[in-house]
Amino acid sequence: MCKTTTQSNPTVADLSRKVYTACSKGGGGKTVFIRIFDEKRMMDLTSSFLDGEIFPELESFFNELDATDGIPQAAKEILKTYSFKVIYEDRASTEAERQKFGVMDFPVYLESTEGPTALTNSEAEELLESHKLPGLTYTFLIKLENGQEELKHEPADVYGSLKAFLGDSSKIGIGIPGNFLDNDQTLCRKIAIVLIDRLIANPDIALSIRRKMFVAILKHEIGHMFGLTHEQNTIMHGSYQVGPLITNPTYTNFQLKIISLALTKLSNN
Ligand SMILES: [Zn+2]
Repeated sequence: MCKTTTQSNPTVADLSRKVYTACSKGGGGKTVFIRIFDEKRMMDLTSSFLDGEIFPELESFFNELDATDGIPQAAKEILKTYSFKVIYEDRASTEAERQKFGVMDFPVYLESTEGPTALTNSEAEELLESHKLPGLTYTFLIKLENGQEELKHEPADVYGSLKAFLGDSSKIGIGIPGNFLDNDQTLCRKIAIVLIDRLIANPDIALSIRRKMFVAILKHEIGHMFGLTHEQNTIMHGSYQVGPLITNPTYTNFQLKIISLALTKLSNN
């Protein structure tokens, strides 16, 4: 989530603040739907730096993850069985859609913080509530300890992170996973918000670099939706520094393992 989650120490109040029922069962479905909603037509403003279509590129990227160089065999076998669809809509999601979002739905909102249609804090919070995001979730990391791979988790205060994100103009996106790997629990709500105007308007980043940044930020936030936490000098780098984001065009092997674990857990849920 793009406020370092290690700084969040959720309290009992956070835990009990928002607890929702589980979302629809996965039933073994193997298609992941990345649903991009652009109610404010933010994509119309990106023509200055977008060269070619970005969403088909993103879809291919996810569909080719199983062919990543050096990917662990087990993750490869799992990822091979999934397909990814990126669906762009120049409208808001409807209440009926949000009600029906299930384990394989990854809603991403393109938003703006400037002008009359700026996303306010309360609107952002309502958006999360309407997706039934719990108050507390976890992000995951695989670490090597004494040569053994250990799956670690970190708690994340969902609504606190949202507020910190909106208030920090250096942050461009936030991605929030459900707690799908830990404690055998079934909450699988997830969401990403990308404040694309913060990238469009940033004069410090050359136009040619902004496209790469946009793609990288989508991969980063969708990575969070799979439960990935920040890791320096990977695509999950903890800040929007151009270097680490665009020089790491894909997930690391450990991150791919977590994505494959999350997918397995979600589709069998
Ligand atoms: Zn992040």
